[in-house]
Amino acid sequence: MNIIFLGPPGAGKGTQAQLICQKLGIPQISTGDMLRAAITNGTQTGLEAKAYMDAGQLVPDAVVIAIVKERLQAEDCKDGYILDGFPRTVEQAKALSEIADIHAVVNIAVSDESLVRRLSGRLVCPVCGAPYRTDRLGGETKCAVDGATLIQRDDDKPETVLGRLQVYHQKTAPLIDFYQREGLLRNVDGAQDQESVTGAILTVLEADR
Ligand code: AMP
Ligand code: ZN
Repeated sequence: MNIIFLGPPGAGKGTQAQLICQKLGIPQISTGDMLRAAITNGTQTGLEAKAYMDAGQLVPDAVVIAIVKERLQAEDCKDGYILDGFPRTVEQAKALSEIADIHAVVNIAVSDESLVRRLSGRLVCPVCGAPYRTDRLGGETKCAVDGATLIQRDDDKPETVLGRLQVYHQKTAPLIDFYQREGLLRNVDGAQDQESVTGAILTVLEADR
């Protein structure tokens, strides 16, 4: 199955996409992760993307669409994939519909208040990308997987978080209607605890298999 995970920043898309991908044995395609890797590797794409990302703005459609187009051609995408963080604009959704046959769009909904709380309380491992919540770390500062010292993403700083939510409402939320009209939208309540969200996603996807 070719699946899209839709939702505001901080809704838990990345965490859930990782869990579901493991369960289904398909790759997780995160444009955010690919862009951060491009920045780390100092590629042309990374150079183009960095200022937008640090400011909490969307990277231009053409850049992101090119990355996804190339990635979807890889052999491991033949049996399905989860797109995590793409598409984020109607323009991207239209480009995607030309190159891929999407079977389901999982919309993980969370209120703005809890998003601000979650995003500004998030730390990530700079090595493996694993996300952590400060309120659950109990003072721990290292990644449980590889021991790297956790950091706060530049775009999770409080002043940027509100801007990212604004960008979401303006540019990405219209995709809810877009996919609703196509009959692909599957809504999941993202305010539940992590395990319940995973269960709810598996349930809505089960209906499509
Ligand atoms: P994420 O890790 O999904 O929260 O993405 C982090 C940042 O990468 C976003 O705030 C954007 O600046 C950029 N980004 C990721 N995916 C996209 C996309 N599909 N379109 C435009 N920008 C993106
Ligand atoms: Zn790690």
